[in-house]
Amino acid sequence: MTSYPHLLAPLDLGFTSLKNRVLMGSMHTGLEEHSNGFERMAAYYGERASGEVGLIVTGGVAPNRSGWVGPFSAKLTNRKEMQEHRMITSAVHERGGKIAMQILHAGRYGYHPLAVAPSRIKSPISPFSPWPLPGFAVEKTIQDYVDCAALAQEAGYDGVEIMGSEGYLINQFIVELTNKRKDKWGGSFENRIRFPVEIVKRTREKVGKEFILIYRLSMLDLVNDGSNWEEIVGLGKAIEDAGATIINTGIGWHEARVPTIATSVPRAAFTFVTKKMKSELSIPLICTNRINTPEVAEKVLAEGHADMVSMARPLLADADFVKKAREGRSEEINTCIACNQACLDHVFKRKIASCLVNPRACHETEINVQESKSSKKIAVIGAGPAGLSFACTAAQRGHKVSLFDKAKEIGGQFNMAKIIPGKEEFHETLRYYDKQLKLHDVDLRLGREVAGQEITDGKYDDVVIATGVKPRALSIPGIDHEKVLSYIQVLHGAPVGKEVAIIGAGGIGFDVAEFLVHEGESPSTDLSLFLKEWGLDPKLEVRGGINHGIKPEVAPPARKVHLLQRTKGKIGAKLGKTTGWIHRASLKHKQVNMIDGVSYNKVDDEGLHYTRDGKSHVLKVDHVIICAGQLPERSLADDLRDRNLNIHLIGGAYEARELDAKYAIDQGTRLGVSI
Ligand code: FAD
Ligand code: NAP
Ligand code: SF4
Repeated sequence: MTSYPHLLAPLDLGFTSLKNRVLMGSMHTGLEEHSNGFERMAAYYGERASGEVGLIVTGGVAPNRSGWVGPFSAKLTNRKEMQEHRMITSAVHERGGKIAMQILHAGRYGYHPLAVAPSRIKSPISPFSPWPLPGFAVEKTIQDYVDCAALAQEAGYDGVEIMGSEGYLINQFIVELTNKRKDKWGGSFENRIRFPVEIVKRTREKVGKEFILIYRLSMLDLVNDGSNWEEIVGLGKAIEDAGATIINTGIGWHEARVPTIATSVPRAAFTFVTKKMKSELSIPLICTNRINTPEVAEKVLAEGHADMVSMARPLLADADFVKKAREGRSEEINTCIACNQACLDHVFKRKIASCLVNPRACHETEINVQESKSSKKIAVIGAGPAGLSFACTAAQRGHKVSLFDKAKEIGGQFNMAKIIPGKEEFHETLRYYDKQLKLHDVDLRLGREVAGQEITDGKYDDVVIATGVKPRALSIPGIDHEKVLSYIQVLHGAPVGKEVAIIGAGGIGFDVAEFLVHEGESPSTDLSLFLKEWGLDPKLEVRGGINHGIKPEVAPPARKVHLLQRTKGKIGAKLGKTTGWIHRASLKHKQVNMIDGVSYNKVDDEGLHYTRDGKSHVLKVDHVIICAGQLPERSLADDLRDRNLNIHLIGGAYEARELDAKYAIDQGTRLGVSI
């Protein structure tokens, strides 16, 4: 008897069967456009097939040039391009998997001057005004979808997914906001949905009955004047009649100002939307967004929210997610913490995607954990993300690793991150590492502050210093005043007054502000609070699911917070590309006062004195909290200098300036595979 009977049950599609209910959702990786990208994608998708995922969907591929997401991004329009895809389909099929290719036309989201759309209406997230498609070009575009699907079939794919959500071209036809046409492709609802329905109908005619055709239906647009529920159901039915095999769920256009996948979104927050659709349609439905553990996936399936679950980022984080669940080893799953730092943030910067908790993702041909030819004795000082990733990787290769930390628990700074409201997922990374240390017999010594003299010559073949960072000391007059606290004191429980100023608006400044304004249950763990905070309609009755009289409801802040930075300009400009706006919006909901372009004068009994635009100000606060960045903690490394030891510095101990957990884990892993 398996623990996940619904998740691991096969899905019979009539002409074929999927081995379980997990769909690896489409994710652009950047490999699509890379010089040896197809070899790398073959390795990447191949590993996910070995990990037993039921059906993989590739990143989006354009059916023509105007459908590119960016200049020269992936397209499939001829047989030469088709041949390359065979590398991917063979790799997946050899490992017993199934794979569908996503066909994505970006429409007005195309970040290039050839972008087209139903009407000439610029999107708020692209500088390019799209060219309106003349009627003959609409027909041609439909044919391009059909031809693209036929080429995908020839390349050996088991199916295609027609991307009809997230605000891309198809969505732009469906919604009046972006479709002002007067011809048969615009105006009435029937006219506006003609484009997707014709694509599905004609694709089905071309590819025959025995080919999986998934349609990604925007079930919640989250933009003003998006579709209403009646229209979405009507479209779903028309798509079913047109010949789709499965309907996948899309939540939120890219331009929507509601978080849909960030770590502060509760797990499985949007599966209720798919559940509502279940009673309307008869083909299998897939639910999606923030499903990241087998337990959550099993629960939504058992409760009848959908027939399958889509997980994209969780399969970047762990290729063996399904296999581990099937083998009763879910504790060993490296869980996606929904940070977006190495996946989406990379893609938006046109870098190759990876994963903060799994640097091997999309780098399978480059980072390989192979048994070491000789077993070394290695001491690792510091059990933060850098030390943990190194220790687990090196031990997995057969080295004898002793891991020391002066703290009583593993995790380093992650132990502060995990208590920030909205960052509860960070617990999972520590659970994962705890399990890996045990599995690979790492000799863990907690509560041990290591001093130079303990590391004697000859005791260890290599010494890895992963001692992290220390807060930057400031020299503002009054810095020793009793009102001044470090972020570490605050996050370790120091009492904090009702009005505070935070010096430094980087990642930690924002997190400390979030910590200080919240009281009680966090919206990230309570769906009804989350829906209220972002003004969403839980009944799905209003157009687009948002606004139209629904006012966001936010619990009052626990205290008044002022967040300051010296740099002139947007506060927190260096926060993650895809998450920074959420952090800023969330603090605005709590009326945090953000002040840029300041110079700090002093702290005294009155509060924090600063100058801005030549004028002096005083914030009469109870406490001033310092979040002004970090410096490397190298006292141990300095102690060991000039000794005859093989010393390696990683993580914050090596470099504090560009340090985050992504950097620390990547560096630890890379040293682990090469030592
Ligand atoms: P650390 O995590 O600092 O670990 C160093 C370890 O070494 C510590 O456990 C320390 O006890 C130990 N140590 C030091 N000296 C000795 C000694 N002599 N003997 C024994 N042990 C010793 N990063 C992100 O990427 N994304 C985030 O969302 C994010 N959020 C954060 C939120 C907060 C509130 C904080 C504080 C940090 C956050 N970070 C985040 C930063 C991230 O946690 C750090 O970049 C990362 O932990 C650095 O890893 P590290 O292993 O180099 O150092
Ligand atoms: P940080 O992001 O570099 O921010 C440091 C802040 O301190 C800046 O706002 C800086 O702004 C200010 N500062 C720097 N020197 C100062 C000085 N001498 N006096 C006064 N202010 C000064 O560093 P952090 O907040 O400590 O974060 C550490 C790392 O963890 C970062 O890499 C960060 O990305 C990561 N992290 C990420 C997240 C996330 O959500 N992704 C969350 C937490 C932490 P001014 O110079 O303009 O004053
Ligand atoms: Fe998940 Fe973060 Fe990895 Fe992306 S980088 S897959 S969000 S853990």
